[in-house]
Amino acid sequence: METTLAPRYRDLPQGQQAQEILRRCVHCGFCTATCPTYQILGDELDGPRGRIYLIKQMVEGAEVTRESQVHLDRCLTCRNCETTCPSGVEYGKLVDIGRELMEHQVVRPAHERWMRFALKAGLTSSWFAPAMRLAQSVRAILPRALRAKVPAYRAAGPLPTATHARKVILLNGCVQPAMLPGIDAATARVLDACGISSQILGNSGCCGAIKHHLSDAQGGLTDARRNIDAWWPEISSGRVEAIVVNASGCGVMVKDYGHLLAHDPDYAEKAARVSALTKDPIELLESLLPELAARTQDKAPTLGHRVAFHPPCTLQHGQKIRGVVEKLLTACGAHLVPVADSHLCCGSAGTYSVLQPSLSTELKSRKLSALSAQRPDVILSANVGCITHLQSGTDTPVRHWLEWLDERL
Ligand code: SF4
Ligand code: SF4
Repeated sequence: METTLAPRYRDLPQGQQAQEILRRCVHCGFCTATCPTYQILGDELDGPRGRIYLIKQMVEGAEVTRESQVHLDRCLTCRNCETTCPSGVEYGKLVDIGRELMEHQVVRPAHERWMRFALKAGLTSSWFAPAMRLAQSVRAILPRALRAKVPAYRAAGPLPTATHARKVILLNGCVQPAMLPGIDAATARVLDACGISSQILGNSGCCGAIKHHLSDAQGGLTDARRNIDAWWPEISSGRVEAIVVNASGCGVMVKDYGHLLAHDPDYAEKAARVSALTKDPIELLESLLPELAARTQDKAPTLGHRVAFHPPCTLQHGQKIRGVVEKLLTACGAHLVPVADSHLCCGSAGTYSVLQPSLSTELKSRKLSALSAQRPDVILSANVGCITHLQSGTDTPVRHWLEWLDERL
């Protein structure tokens, strides 16, 4: 679509990038049918093509309304539409730009401003971990809605002590170490079993995705720069071969640091290097698949053989990693049951489950019906948000696939 930028956007990098992305869209609408929010609401403006059109109108100078903002808010940023689009439209980048520009023009109602501030400040604060511990200790008596956000406490288990020649950095993250500390511990043990040492550097933290997706681009970049500073001594000395991110929602963000900081002369080069080094665990373990398969041959899985795998949108659409975890799980003894519509989002989507509870709950219920149809022993996924969200709606255990593999090993 040809887009004529309004004068106020002509010299902005965001305006130029939006124009570049919009140019590729031929308005064919192939993306609309696979959009989860369009499937539920049936409104063109709650699908990708309609949202693209709203952003085009805004950058061309049309007045932006609260109604337009609500249509963008309802987008999960699942990027399913990117996978479907035959023209390679980078919808995820476009909607981020659209939201940020819109945020400067539309005043949100007070309760929304408060909620968004509380999420940004609360989830990334050092108070989150003790608050989560407290909530877990009284989980049984919490109101149902709150209990759904607080996973039951599970001990993380011992961390490996051996040192190996191969070394990687693990992202520290914000909510995962407090909510499900077993995921990092399982990752460290699986890597250790593969002859790889992992370390979490204390001064790293949230990847920045929470602020970035709440239209606080500068806050997200501050988090990114802090992580780069924390990791850089290990990277520049060549002591580590990769930055491993076991939450796919954070992985897609760190892989984007190079793009997000491309205009920062102090960080552009470092950010590009960090992004190039960042890997989902499966990208590291894929080459060790025969070894892992051999080591897990004779062991009975505590969590069960019959596995339903939910590939998070940030893994399959964001990082474009499809079918590889499934291959590893099968090689290591899982019987993967078929799951309908595995390309669709579960409704977790970062803070979406808090900000859009009814759409999120509907998507969770649809996803759990699909995942439970073949009565699996366990549901596996690759992102803390999806795992917590899905577990709140089922008694079937929901785990990270690395926890399942750790138990096998
Ligand atoms: S984003 Fe892609 S699939 Fe959707 S309308 Fe544009 S060109 Fe068509
Ligand atoms: S990112 Fe997901 S929810 Fe948003 S428009 Fe695309 S398919 Fe729909």
